[in-house]
Amino acid sequence: MRLVERFIDLDPLVMSRSRVDRSTDKEAKRKQKEMIRRARWANDPVYRERELERGRKWRREHPESHAKSQRKWRAKNIEYYRAAQQVRSREYRKKKPELLRRLCTNYRKRLRVLVINHYGGICVCCGEVEMGFLTIHHINNDGAEHRREVGRAAVYQWLKNNGFPEGYEVRCYNCNCGMEYNGGVCPHENSRTTN
Ligand SMILES: [Zn+2]
Ligand SMILES: [Zn+2]
Repeated sequence: MRLVERFIDLDPLVMSRSRVDRSTDKEAKRKQKEMIRRARWANDPVYRERELERGRKWRREHPESHAKSQRKWRAKNIEYYRAAQQVRSREYRKKKPELLRRLCTNYRKRLRVLVINHYGGICVCCGEVEMGFLTIHHINNDGAEHRREVGRAAVYQWLKNNGFPEGYEVRCYNCNCGMEYNGGVCPHENSRTTN
């Protein structure tokens, strides 16, 4: 009861509450209720907190419905959503450049490990498993061209986005560079055949 009283003090809209009750027009009634709800939301912090908590509780208890309704809302307001997202990320970048830099580094590291592990996580030539030595090798030796195409740092992301296509293998940097300087065959192979 007290809530309502305070609300009445704060907003003249509530003075028309009696009219809401007399109204026979359902749509008008609904609209007026919505306006009252909004006014209350704007003016009554206790109400707002209670409603927010109610929303949080619902989202906790219905994560799937929540995700579904979010998707629906996004699809309906896609332009607004994209613009808002841009503004949000711009502000975030401005506010926390250091954190963002670390997040990006972290993401790139994890992405690299993910992709390398997906392609076996071990050098196909010498059996090196130390992550720091491993890289993705293009079997057709068109690595340079591909890197130019998608961008040097984007190869891992490209592989992930494209569902880890065939034609790539894991090699250590030694075997990778060795191949390049030895006409496409790792020097390991030479010593293996001569021994
Ligand atoms: Zn190797
Ligand atoms: Zn090798």
